[in-house]
Amino acid sequence: MNASATTSMDIQPDVQSLLKKCPLCSEAILKEAKKCRYCGEFFDPELRASTKTLSQPEWNPSIAAVLSLLLPGGGHIYRGKVVKGFLWLILVAIGYGFYLIPGLILHLVSVSFAAMGNPMEG
Ligand SMILES: [Zn+2]
Repeated sequence: MNASATTSMDIQPDVQSLLKKCPLCSEAILKEAKKCRYCGEFFDPELRASTKTLSQPEWNPSIAAVLSLLLPGGGHIYRGKVVKGFLWLILVAIGYGFYLIPGLILHLVSVSFAAMGNPMEG
């Protein structure tokens, strides 16, 4: 009988059950780990989501353009530029109210402005 071998065999599965293999770097890490300490990969879905959103565009130029086409300033409001959006809405409304063509031009300008800029910066 080899008591020490039996003991180590008993301990081994417990350690193994606490560890998992990182899918990215294949290092053994704790199962409860939310982030790999070797490569920095996130395992927690919420943490992963929060880090992913950082690199995703904050707005879509196409949506901004369509919204501005439907409602002057709508694209700006969608991008969080509420004051600018309402200014465009008033400006385009004045343009439409007084002269048909400047209103249309202002409307199209508001559409192109809404779709302009860097989507990563908001
Ligand atoms: Zn890793």
